[in-house]
Amino acid sequence: MTDEPIGELEDEEMRDAIHEAGHAVHALLHGFSFQSVAICHDGPRAGEIHWSSPWDYHTLGWENTADGRLFAERWMVCHLAGMAAETRWGDGFHPWGAQADVTCVEAVSRRIVENPKELHEYRIRLWQMATQFTQDDRNWRGIRALALELVRRKSLSGEDAELVARAAMNDNDES
Ligand SMILES: [Zn+2]
Repeated sequence: MTDEPIGELEDEEMRDAIHEAGHAVHALLHGFSFQSVAICHDGPRAGEIHWSSPWDYHTLGWENTADGRLFAERWMVCHLAGMAAETRWGDGFHPWGAQADVTCVEAVSRRIVENPKELHEYRIRLWQMATQFTQDDRNWRGIRALALELVRRKSLSGEDAELVARAAMNDNDES
């Protein structure tokens, strides 16, 4: 499968779809369920995922357990996966489309690592994890297939998104 754009008019919409699909496929593979994933050009945001049980990282104490930190790390990589997917798709990402993602990662990572230098390195590692996720060809097949379906239908339920992504990821035919 190639990474060729599907046409100029749809290119911008496809970028937004790739971003949301990056979040969605990471979520599917890491146990974060969502009710729906959508792209929208009318609102301030390019797209949105409705989480089944959104994590409120402002709650106290999660950073004191290894399980809590592990969960938080997956949550952050999931949020970075949108920008990482955009980066694989084309020339970098649109930072204005990802402000909520960045805000989340900054706030959560600050709770895990206090030393500023270590925090900087930690955030680079998180970004590398997100990049590795989207560089994986199987994951990318799922992201790309889901994005194409998002461009076509604008919104998918969590169940439909999972069907589309998993079918693409299990399909080893590169045609
Ligand atoms: Zn995002």
